[in-house]
Amino acid sequence: MHLSVSAVSDSAPEAGSESTSAPRRDFIREMVADDVANGHFGRGPATRFPPEPNGFLHMGHAKSICLNFGIAKEFGGTCNLRFDDTNPATEDVRYVEAIQRDVQWLGFEWDGLYYASDYFEQLYDIAESLVLKGKAYVDSQNEEEIRAGRGTVTTAGTPGPYRDRTVQENLDLLRRMRAGEFADGTHVLRAKIDLAHVNMIMRDPLLLRIRHAHHYRRGNDWCIYPLYDFAHGLSDAIEGITRSLCTLEFKDSREIYDWLVKEAGFENPPTQIEFARLELDYTILSKRKLLRLVNEGHVTGWDDPRMPTLAGLRRRGVRPEAIREFCETIGVARKDARVEIAAFEHAVRNDLNMEVPRVLCVLNPLKVVLTNYPEGQVEDLDAPSFPHDVPKTGSRSMPFSRELYVDRDDFMEDPPKKFYRLAPGKEVRLRFGYLITCNEVVKNDAGDVIELRCTYDPATRSGQAPDGRKVQGTIHWVSAAQALSCEVRVYDRLFSQPDPDAVPEGQDFISALNPHSLVVIPDAKIEPSVANDPIGSRYQFERTGYFMSDVESSTPEKLVFNRIVGMRDSWAKEVKKG
Ligand code: ATP
Ligand code: MG
Repeated sequence: MHLSVSAVSDSAPEAGSESTSAPRRDFIREMVADDVANGHFGRGPATRFPPEPNGFLHMGHAKSICLNFGIAKEFGGTCNLRFDDTNPATEDVRYVEAIQRDVQWLGFEWDGLYYASDYFEQLYDIAESLVLKGKAYVDSQNEEEIRAGRGTVTTAGTPGPYRDRTVQENLDLLRRMRAGEFADGTHVLRAKIDLAHVNMIMRDPLLLRIRHAHHYRRGNDWCIYPLYDFAHGLSDAIEGITRSLCTLEFKDSREIYDWLVKEAGFENPPTQIEFARLELDYTILSKRKLLRLVNEGHVTGWDDPRMPTLAGLRRRGVRPEAIREFCETIGVARKDARVEIAAFEHAVRNDLNMEVPRVLCVLNPLKVVLTNYPEGQVEDLDAPSFPHDVPKTGSRSMPFSRELYVDRDDFMEDPPKKFYRLAPGKEVRLRFGYLITCNEVVKNDAGDVIELRCTYDPATRSGQAPDGRKVQGTIHWVSAAQALSCEVRVYDRLFSQPDPDAVPEGQDFISALNPHSLVVIPDAKIEPSVANDPIGSRYQFERTGYFMSDVESSTPEKLVFNRIVGMRDSWAKEVKKG
């Protein structure tokens, strides 16, 4: 299934038409509303966002965050941030810090901040209680034997030789596992359920395994670690969560979730609801794969502006409002669906359109000399910073003089019929200013155009000709002497195909990387009005796209801009052109 958002278009929306809509009622919100109305859990709605601190948060996590925190907010409940940190091998405090920063940046504040690793004692006590009830046993088979004993989807499993150990024997072994007497992999604790269960997960799932490893928070306190299914539902129950929202791939885990919270004796335990994970075209949403991009140097780090991480999007210039609006738009469904990247870009443009001032920046400068403009003269043209349909005010003045820069793309020596920009003998309007006519094309020895000699019409300061003659095209420009040189980093999609995993046999998503995802323009020319704006200011460069000065590398002496998003979906057009 492919989801496209009907509203995807490049035209500016009506002022204020977006973001005032009430939150949608999806199937999860219906359920929570019912919980509240009928007092199902005997407590208010309680959700949690449970990342594993083994990487930075990405757009997929944003969907989960907006859902969990959104529900808490809408229904007057609570939402915890819980680190699901039960795997000592991959977790790090650096990720814990990044995740907290990103959740807050996205606009949410947690009620409780918890760590699954703080529950190790409680989980261990539950493990002992299961053993005492005869509901768990220590298995001493190796991984291979355990897998074989599980059977297959079509055949039942077979009990291993340790399945009927006595309670005393199991308790003794479990305590010694905890005390560190055994090597990794020699024993595991398993739930004693049913080796012929139709749900493979219920065939005596592993609960605890031995890992003599350093944990970033618990140090060397523990040498047994809970498996995901064991830790997850019980952590929810310990925190008093009501609805545990997770993605569809955990559907089969719901039975063990219910079994564990019940066997552990929780009253009114939480229940799990699954929803579709976000898959976005031209994007990878998997921490494991994103980590590879970082480690192999395909990007500059987790916050590379091309990364679909919240840190990357923030650095690029996307506002949290746009991400929240996007999550709202795509909604929550029970079936997996890929979302067109155009839908996200649309949300980004829509948000910035209403917020950021317009400026003129020439990415690919070509000198224009106005031969009839007095040398040494500079006049100031008044330039409003917002178009009529944006309810903001403000303006700046644009210096205008004899020497200007225009964009090379706005000139053609031998133009096709409908080219309404500069060409020999053609007249064009300068944004906020005069009409000019191109009279002469200056070339270097190699035959490249290096300068245009034009005349301006002094009677057209308003942009209109008093004699009523029609001029179709309007182009952007800057005054050469006053313009600031800047670096512009034009970011594009990180992958060159919608599904980066759909690659030929023997290759992986790395081969789908877009080699042109970053084009650096070292010497663009921007109007001087931006000179004293704080680093991190966002703009629309008229006709070009939305940009933000880069918080890491931009300085007052040398401005550096990241392209957040282009003006329209040029990619789709290029693909069509082939
Ligand atoms: P990844 O595969 O990127 O590591 P994950 O699911 O393993 O993702 P977690 O840190 O375990 O990452 O996820 C925290 C929460 O975010 C979980 O509840 C998970 O379901 C949710 N989540 C992760 N990826 C997505 C996604 N693409 N769409 C929606 N929710 C997601
Ligand atoms: Mg995970």
